[in-house]
Parts: sequence; structure tokens; C-alpha cells
Amino acid sequence: MRVLVVEDEINLAETLRRGLARHGAVVEVAHDGVDGLWLATERPFDVMVLDIMLPALNGYRLLQELRRREIWTPVLMLTAKDGEYDQADAFDLGADDYVTKPFSFLLLHARLRALVRRGGPARPTVLRAGGLSLDPARRRVERDGEEVTLTPREFALLEYLLRNCGDVVSKTDILTAVWDPAFDGDVNVVEVYIGYLRRKLDIPYGRNTIQTVRGVGYRLVDEV
Ligand code: CA
Repeated sequence: MRVLVVEDEINLAETLRRGLARHGAVVEVAHDGVDGLWLATERPFDVMVLDIMLPALNGYRLLQELRRREIWTPVLMLTAKDGEYDQADAFDLGADDYVTKPFSFLLLHARLRALVRRGGPARPTVLRAGGLSLDPARRRVERDGEEVTLTPREFALLEYLLRNCGDVVSKTDILTAVWDPAFDGDVNVVEVYIGYLRRKLDIPYGRNTIQTVRGVGYRLVDEV
């Protein structure tokens, strides 16, 4: 198998390169995010080991950019328990698996083989309703065919509403799914963000896709 390792800790990268090569893999190593992205884009790999905290371009951004370019090489992310991102984030970011540092080489190798056997990830389905479309992989939102720029939080909120299209979701449901289960700030932050989405996606187009259900919550309707 052909493996790309993107890891800035030289010793760890070298340990991985030697270990994988010993098991017959063809390994290329990049020590920063920009080189990693270039290699991942220009050369074919069966699987990729991606650290998160990297110079030049972090693993998070690298993965986003890779998927935006529609490159579906399976990615195993290396996460640190005390890092800026944790394993839950790794999946949100489009990783196919993760291993928490420090890890055993045997575990990592087994996970990589499993990913290669499984093949590349299926391209995530574009969500559509009421003239809106959201492409989770390319991080792209369109209203009536026109691209609209959303902040990451607005994007996550819209994705949640689209996944629950037609159902009423409460502010608490939204907070848990889009913010954090442990969020203890003002629930009205949801209302504020619903307002942002309406101003970007509904009001300028004379639409009413994101509706308030008084006393209950919100519903995204698939109106024509
Ligand atoms: Ca690192």
C-alpha cells in the first residue's frame, strides 16, 4: 500500500516511515501541511496518516481542502488528548479514523490496513431542501443555485436543520448538536444564529424556509 504520512515531529515521522516500510508499504513523508497537501493532491495514495497540529497548514485545514478538491483518500488522524482538537472533531472534519497519541505502531498499522480494505470514503451526499443545497464535503452552500458564504457555525446550524428537514427542533436540540453538549451559555444564541441564516438565505430571496414554531423551536421546510 502507498501511505502518505504528514507529521512534523521528525522522530515520530521517521518511526512511522520505517515501521510501515518494514511491512512492505511505500511511504512518503511531509513535515508540514502545505507539503502534505501538495503530495496528497499530486500523487496517488491508498491511505494517509495526518497529524493535526502542523506548521504552515494544520491537519484540520488540510483535510478540508483535500475534500474540497474532491480527493477521497482515506485519512487516519493523529489526535492528542490535550490538543486543540479531540477525536470527536476528527470525524466532524471528515477523517475516516483516528488514533490518539501516544499510540502503538501495531494498532496504527492495523487501522491503516482496515481503512485500505474498506476503500475510500463515499462522497457525502449533498443535502437539499427548499431551494437550498449544502455540500458537506466541499463546504459549499447554495440558495437557488447561487453560492452563499456562511461562517462555520452558520454552516453547522444549517446542516443540522437540513438533516432534520420537516421536523421541529428545539433550541436545546440545536445547542447540543451544533454548539456543545456542555454549552452553558444563553440559549438565545440559537435565535441570533437563526436570524443570521435568514438574513443570508431567506430574506434576500423572499423565502421563508427557516420557520419559527412558537414556543417549540424551528423547522426547515421544503417549500417550493
Ligand atoms: Ca504535530
